[in-house]
Amino acid sequence: MEELIQRAASDLVNSQYGIALTGAGISTESGIPDFRGPAGVWTLNPDAEKRAYQGYQEFIDDPEGWWKNTITSSAMHSLGNLEQVRPNLGHQAIAELEKMGILKCTITQNIDALHEKAGTVKVLEYHGSVIKLRCLSCGARFKKDEFDLEQLLQENRLPPSCPECRGILKSDTVFFGEAIPGDVAEQSLEEVWKCDLMLVCGTSAVVFPFASLPRIVRERGAATIIEINAEATPLTEEGVSDYLLQGKTGEILPLILEEVKRLKGQRACLPSSTNNKHSRGQNVTKPTTEISIRCTRLSIVGGDITDQNTDAIVNAANSSLMGGGGVDGAIHLAGGPAILEECKQIVAKRGQLPTGQAVISGGGKLKARFVIHTVGPVWQGGNEGEPELLASAYRESLRVAAENDLSSVAFPSISTGDYSYPMDGGAAVATETVTTFLKEHSTSIKEVVFVLFHSSAFDSYSLALGEYCENIDD
Ligand SMILES: [Zn+2]
Repeated sequence: MEELIQRAASDLVNSQYGIALTGAGISTESGIPDFRGPAGVWTLNPDAEKRAYQGYQEFIDDPEGWWKNTITSSAMHSLGNLEQVRPNLGHQAIAELEKMGILKCTITQNIDALHEKAGTVKVLEYHGSVIKLRCLSCGARFKKDEFDLEQLLQENRLPPSCPECRGILKSDTVFFGEAIPGDVAEQSLEEVWKCDLMLVCGTSAVVFPFASLPRIVRERGAATIIEINAEATPLTEEGVSDYLLQGKTGEILPLILEEVKRLKGQRACLPSSTNNKHSRGQNVTKPTTEISIRCTRLSIVGGDITDQNTDAIVNAANSSLMGGGGVDGAIHLAGGPAILEECKQIVAKRGQLPTGQAVISGGGKLKARFVIHTVGPVWQGGNEGEPELLASAYRESLRVAAENDLSSVAFPSISTGDYSYPMDGGAAVATETVTTFLKEHSTSIKEVVFVLFHSSAFDSYSLALGEYCENIDD
């Protein structure tokens, strides 16, 4: 177990965009009963489950009656109890990991608001929250205690209405038969696309659509999924998670947090000379993240390419231009359907895009005005012309940018994800091709930036640029 805790801590520290997925298991340790476990509410009382399934239709048929029943019945009081429970050490560890900048978002199945109470700022409550009401018309949410429901009952003014649009307010908790609120479903998908690490805590992830979230990450590849659960789950058995730390989240998460703090402390203490230099062979290459070539600035940053506000971002597309995994999927997701529509027209006109070529489309909802789609080679061992095809993908993208008079372009690391091009080799081709192009052509391009999602890619690119600088110094 100790080894797994160290592994999880090290994976967290090395991640760029970690998110947590939590379920009932993390809250049972705060005394909240689960529903489907051996002593679960529904296992012991199947009638209650049947009633719950009818909840949403009942509400839609008669919102006023539903509210009257709820306020006058004991259900209200059991919700009252839920409001008294306190977060446990597991919730606190997650809040602390967010504060350290390691976890960027927590998506929870729980309706108990315990992540919020523990101080986690970015929480997506997939199944709603027991302390909130939600407007069925505009989707706005309000704290339940802003409404005097007893008084509304006495004055015959139920259901409560939305202060913003006068729509009907329902408990924010998602009922059976009710769709996951669109905003939460969409934001959860975005987070799942962005993450390179997912910490699954206290959920067997069997209830869809929530259960699809870790599976999307697994199919997308290039991300680590760590599971902390009392027992092995379908995620463990189907190989969705990379590894399982078996036990209580309230015990394991704090141990991981301690180890993360120790690792962070160790890093901070490294003298800067060893921190900034990597040895390769006998030479010590200094990583470089910014240089100027003629009047163009070339830089390397860590981050998400879909957030860039350069004139264009480059998409590592496939020949069909119909979207795919990794960067490609993230760009289409963030940019909206307009980009795909334009890509379809491009393919209708000129056919599929051959490897090493590039085309341009509008940027849809992205900050960048344009997307340059290029197709990198799939790595087949290195003897199928992969380096030249990869160089061509970078060169053609720059050529398209120059032809369209653009002044700034952001590149992802092309081919090194799903297409398996080795990272160090890919970084060398990328930096060499771009620097050579900028040296040999005078164009409208004043800024080129490599935006790298993973720290390992960032390290490879800054070393490759460092080596380039050493060679021109010699
Ligand atoms: Zn409203």
